[in-house]
Amino acid sequence: MKKIAVIGSGAGGLITSSKLAKDLYKEIKNGEVSITIFDKRTDQEFQPGYLEVAFRGTDPSKIRRPIDKLISPGVQVVHKNIEKVDLAERYVKTEGDGGEKVDFDYIVISTGASPDNDQIDGLKEANMDFHTSANKSSLIYNQVSKIKSGRIVVGIGGVPYKCPPSPNESAFMLDEYFRKAGIRDKVEITYVTPFTRIYSAETINEVIAPMYESRNIESITVFNTDTVDSKKKEITSIEGETLKYDYLYLTPPHKTAGFLKESEIVDEDGWVKVDKKDMHITTYDNGFAIGDTTNIPISKAGVEAHLEGIVVANNITGDINGTGRAYKFTGRTQCSMETGFHKATFVVGTYDRPVEKIQPSTMNYMEKKVMEKIYWSSLHGHYEWLFKHHFKEDYFEHQEPIAH
Ligand SMILES: Cc1cc2nc3c(=O)[nH]c(=O)nc-3n(C[C@H](O)[C@H](O)[C@H](O)COP(=O)(O)OP(=O)(O)OC[C@H]3O[C@@H](n4cnc5c(N)ncnc54)[C@H](O)[C@@H]3O)c2cc1C
Repeated sequence: MKKIAVIGSGAGGLITSSKLAKDLYKEIKNGEVSITIFDKRTDQEFQPGYLEVAFRGTDPSKIRRPIDKLISPGVQVVHKNIEKVDLAERYVKTEGDGGEKVDFDYIVISTGASPDNDQIDGLKEANMDFHTSANKSSLIYNQVSKIKSGRIVVGIGGVPYKCPPSPNESAFMLDEYFRKAGIRDKVEITYVTPFTRIYSAETINEVIAPMYESRNIESITVFNTDTVDSKKKEITSIEGETLKYDYLYLTPPHKTAGFLKESEIVDEDGWVKVDKKDMHITTYDNGFAIGDTTNIPISKAGVEAHLEGIVVANNITGDINGTGRAYKFTGRTQCSMETGFHKATFVVGTYDRPVEKIQPSTMNYMEKKVMEKIYWSSLHGHYEWLFKHHFKEDYFEHQEPIAH
């Protein structure tokens, strides 16, 4: 019996387990393979929807689904978090005093990344973020819908964080909201970023910088948030600049899952060190990590987690059925950036191709909306035919098996 453990039932963990369950259906039925997914969460949220909740008032329940509806047949679920992973001895331990040791032959770590307001002095007391949960995002809308005037500061509080365009989107969505409310002239929107441009990739910056200008969104670049004073309502940068705010919706720097920090498979910041092509943990052949929890130098986003999960599932299946590890991740990124008023652009690139220059359009916005509609089904692997068609040669590289 080959035991596969998947840690984390988010975007990456779910597609990996679904794909494995589909491709190893016979082996599971014959008792030769088992797949177990570990996560104490009993529901999942469509995280890109946090923006809609925070800035358009979407009901949080609309972007949430029970985990049991998202797990594919053949996959067992353990609603417990993992507190220790030992790759050499091939076991994980579930959280708590009665925590159990569970053996595995293959492990896929997909524990994501989460906002860490504590990294910046004073941020927790002052900030409301839209990267933590749907419920927390809805607190922003409660506040936004009461604003009559004042200065809102949004932007990048620190790196890394998930979905690189999301802080820019918050500025565009607030601009749309207050224009529609007829009080845009009374509300200042200021965007801060540690980068030298409004968007770090030059091609996308060329697209959105003029839009910031025409929408009257102030931008402050090379602003590395150092401290926030919630009493004085001031935010100060390492560079020595101090800004007054009335409302603060910064994207905090993100952290890795706590238990990983103790393990030897992570870099100094806690991100799992992987081969950027086949996603195997660099020091262990039988372990893989995908999605936001890895240290690979691309954006932390769902599309990447999904495509990496497909590669890893194909390679584990190849190992088990003897065809080898023949699949590689291309580094394909695709993050939508809504620019307001039913338009969006996309941040698209690969390991080999720099980020493209894509103008905002209604078609892009519609594509984003289609993705929202098919998201939950896509976690079962129902839309791989569409993704294969859409991503073409970026879907994955398939070549001679990699010797392991
Ligand atoms: C505002 C916002 C907008 C976004 N927009 C986009 C977008 O337009 N396009 C895009 O591609 N992506 C977008 N994303 C990013 C996307 O949602 C994430 O990158 C994606 O969910 C990453 O998948 P993952 O599996 O790595 O992590 P997650 O989906 O976060 O799942 C991680 C899971 O691991 C579990 N876990 C953590 N610790 C443990 C443990 N110790 N034991 C067991 N389980 C554990 C967690 O409970 C969680 O369920 C956006 C995110 C946000 C917040």
